[in-house]
Formats: sequence, structure tokens, C-alpha cells
Amino acid sequence: MIKWLLRLIVFTVAAVCLLLAALAWPSVWFSHTQRLGNITFHADFDFDGDWPAILADITSRYEHVPVYDSSHLPDVYLFSEQDNYNLFARLALVPDAVPGFNLSIFDNSYISLPGLELRRERPTDRYAYSSITGEIAQCVTHELIHGLLQERLGYAAVLSIPHWKAEGYCEYFAARPRLEADSVKLRDRIGQWLNVPKDSRTREYFLYGLMANYLFAQEQLTLESYLSNSLTFDEARNRMLTWYDTLPHDSTLTSSMP
Ligand SMILES: [Zn+2]
Repeated sequence: MIKWLLRLIVFTVAAVCLLLAALAWPSVWFSHTQRLGNITFHADFDFDGDWPAILADITSRYEHVPVYDSSHLPDVYLFSEQDNYNLFARLALVPDAVPGFNLSIFDNSYISLPGLELRRERPTDRYAYSSITGEIAQCVTHELIHGLLQERLGYAAVLSIPHWKAEGYCEYFAARPRLEADSVKLRDRIGQWLNVPKDSRTREYFLYGLMANYLFAQEQLTLESYLSNSLTFDEARNRMLTWYDTLPHDSTLTSSMP
């Protein structure tokens, strides 16, 4: 009996080690690798066509994040087959429907290109500058920023950050270089959010990015004050909406998204 129990324990430990090894070093499944800046991209296809521009866009956004650390060397795995991605998502206990995730403990980001394509086919014009649109550069940079936050704050501290703050930070800073170059102002985007149907499953997620945008760009919060326990979700949302109400409004704004 003890012998069988020992065998079961050894088998279980070996299986767990194999799963962790697959998650830590997925590169054996990928035929193409390209390093740009500090990021190493892996794919099972050539990086031709639009890819050089997309990778350059990701690298540029990434290097503009306030917590950017030049000694940090992340890996990005770009899956062109949903089934292969699902295998890794299940190993990491991430729902298949989520098209990207970061395992900061391994410094790896895993991206489903078919999952992002599905998002791009949905009518998400109200969610400009959000990963909800399925834009590859936004989604990949978002996942990479999760890794930067872990590097800056430590693994335990990152796990204790409220969901809205972590997602809002990644959403806003992944999009910030594009936001600064565009005429669509935060005020306009809050107006668009107010018009998103209340039963939309992604409405809250869009809000997280807007709140981080408001707190960092308007209130000029530091990362420390943003992460302070005294700043609650309700408090931050109310401050943003109070600021929005003080602004002059143009009735055409809510339907003028390019
Ligand atoms: Zn995220």
C-alpha cells in the first residue's frame, strides 16, 4: 500500500514538473524567433507582411511604460492555432476565451492570434484603445506590462493589487503613446463609455482603462498613490465622473468615434 502511495506521489510530482516545464519553456513548440529591443517574440510563422511594424509598435509602447526596466527580458509566444493556445491556457488555468495572458513568474506572455481576430470582428468601436478591440500591439503590450509590474513590485505584492487597478494600469499605459497622438480625448471616451449598454460584459473592463487614464493623466498620481489601499474603485470612479461633469459637453461627442 505504501509502495503504491509513493508511486502515486512520484508520478504526481513528475506530472506537475512536466506541466511547469511546458509553461516555462514553450519555445520548443515555435519555429521562429525574433528579438526586438529587450523582447523576444516566438511564432510558428515568418515575421513578414505587417509583422515588422507590429513588433516595432509593441516595442515602442513597451519602452514608454513608466515602470519599464531595461534589464527585464520578457518572451512573447504568438499562437496561430487556437487549439495549441488552449492547451497552454488550460495548463495555466486561464479560460480559453481570454485571448492573452501573462505568467510573470516565468516572464512569459501567451497570445492567441485567432482569439484576437475574433475580437476584431466584433463591433467594438466604443472601446477604442482597449484590448477589447483585439488590436495585437495593444493586447501584447498589455500582457508585457503585467510582467513589468511584477518586476517592479514583486510577485506577492502584484497578487494583492485589485483587479481593476492592475488591468487599468496595463490598459492605459499600453495605449498611452497612441492616445497622446490622437485627438480623441479622455472626455470623449468617457462619454462613449456612458453610452455602452449597461448589460455589456466588457463595460467594466473598458472603465478600468479610463479610470487609470484619468488618475495618471489628470490627477498626476504616482504609482504608489494609485496602488494605495485608500483609493477604492468607487472613490476613483466618482472622482473621474465628477471631473467629467465639470467639463463642457458637445452632444455630438458620443457618436463621433472614428
Ligand atoms: Zn490584464
